[in-house]
Amino acid sequence: MLVYKFGGASINSPEGVCNLGRIVSKCDDKLIVVVSAMGKTTNMLETVNAACFERNMDETLRILSGIEDYHYNMIDGLTGMSNSVKDKLRYSIKSLIDGVINFVENTKNHDFDYCYGQIVSLGELLSSTIVNEYVNSIVRTSGLVDARSFITTDSLFREANVYFDRTEKKLADIFSFRDNVNCYITQGFIGSNPNGDTTTLGREGSDYSAAIIASLMNANSLTIWKDVPGVLSADPKLFPEAKLLPELSYKDAAELSYYGAQVMHQKTIKPLVNKNIPLYVKSFIDIDLQGTDISSKKRLQDIPVIATKKNQILISILPKDFSFALEDALIENLLILQRYRLKIHLIQSTPLCISLCVDDGRNTRLAIDELRINGLVQYNDNLELITIRNYTENLIEQYSGIREKLIMQRDRSTVRILLKN
Ligand code: ASP
Ligand code: MG
Repeated sequence: MLVYKFGGASINSPEGVCNLGRIVSKCDDKLIVVVSAMGKTTNMLETVNAACFERNMDETLRILSGIEDYHYNMIDGLTGMSNSVKDKLRYSIKSLIDGVINFVENTKNHDFDYCYGQIVSLGELLSSTIVNEYVNSIVRTSGLVDARSFITTDSLFREANVYFDRTEKKLADIFSFRDNVNCYITQGFIGSNPNGDTTTLGREGSDYSAAIIASLMNANSLTIWKDVPGVLSADPKLFPEAKLLPELSYKDAAELSYYGAQVMHQKTIKPLVNKNIPLYVKSFIDIDLQGTDISSKKRLQDIPVIATKKNQILISILPKDFSFALEDALIENLLILQRYRLKIHLIQSTPLCISLCVDDGRNTRLAIDELRINGLVQYNDNLELITIRNYTENLIEQYSGIREKLIMQRDRSTVRILLKN
């Protein structure tokens, strides 16, 4: 049994969905297909959630109507499906969108994160419904499975933690491959908590969903189909000399995704390592290209790899009375950041100052206010963190250029530079 995952960029047009169909039709094995929301739908749904939070109903309904049209156009463009199947599909899309409108208009719970789960999950529900209907009517006998019926999580709505044991108990029954079904379509990114509320696993979380399914179902492999030829040594949009990395170890892949390489969601590797399941990252556009093989046996060669994280903020905390015991202060401050769910990408300390580089997001200023209760806090925002594996002095010069370096940390193989934009 194999697991395939298709991201939003691969299925952002009717041609993309047809191409998915071609790839699925070439696979003779039993197959579970995990899909993300189509194109930029998740970004649009995030603006729906923000508008809804501000009780701006006109804006909420306007964006939802745009999302509806986008999916109708998708259906219109799919060749080979009968009109009656398309009508049925339009009806399903309308019901899913009406469900969200009904939620927005009637919910009594206005918690931002809770509403995020109920609203933003719509993207994956729409895409999986369309993909399943297409595959089932053209390619092979498929069945649609709602990921919320088996991915069981806690209630951290926008970055939920998966309960692996509960999820595993449900899986085998759900993906039974009975009644001639040899292919299942399901959603990435979404799950549900024990109350039955919809939760999400964090942006780009579909890779992680696919890895969980592959691991718990003991799949032979997981393939992530992408709009690039595989894992590259840098983002080709920023660094035109980026090269394909034909093989990586699990450790390389986990590190690179942590550093911000456009590889895959950070949590993807762990479930695969536990069962030693190989991961292939392949081109959705040219499926005969070799792509990248990731497994325990492979390793990264010595070529330089560059990863960047934009929109970083460096928070520096000093004691009010010179009384730092570094460990205590560090732990206290880390707990505050954890409570606001800020991801720390770099730490630097001196006897009188702790500096932490984190993503600058919705919660950052709230965390800073809380850090100010115990210390003097300064911050620098609009920063970029560049990591270079297998660096040379030339590369450091080339990529940091004339920009001001706030922090540079290096060991024998890796340098990390925090730059002003
Ligand atoms: N649709 C979600 C996102 O765009 C999940 C994913 O693509 O993996 O973040
Ligand atoms: Mg996506």
